[in-house]
Amino acid sequence: MSDDLFLKIIAREIPADIVYEDDEVLAFRDINPQAPLHVLIIPKVHIRTINDLQPTDAELVGKLFLVAQDIARSEGIDESGYRVVMNCNAGAGQTVFHIHLHLLGGRDFTWPPG
Ligand code: AMP
Repeated sequence: MSDDLFLKIIAREIPADIVYEDDEVLAFRDINPQAPLHVLIIPKVHIRTINDLQPTDAELVGKLFLVAQDIARSEGIDESGYRVVMNCNAGAGQTVFHIHLHLLGGRDFTWPPG
């Protein structure tokens, strides 16, 4: 857990461009954006991967999506469209092992993703 970069952002030990915060959730702009809007939405508790989620986390995970919806609306991309992605483990591209929902928008996306 000590190598959890996102816990350091929550603790303000590492700077971030924070766009939303409440008791349970933090959202900040990705340092290497893959779209004009690229925000990461994270729980404040340490959960390594989707595989570590418990039934008791259901409400918290749902909240990540509601925060994504709010940010998409406030950034004006809710009608044009956006993508939310959560990578699980290295094979899917996960590099930070603290679950995070990517909110991407402001351009067109293709399918399937790479
Ligand atoms: P993933 O590859 O799904 O684990 O996503 C990790 C994301 O965290 C990547 O998109 C990185 O660009 C982003 N990231 C890494 N370090 C930072 C940081 N200090 N501040 C903001 N975003 C970061």
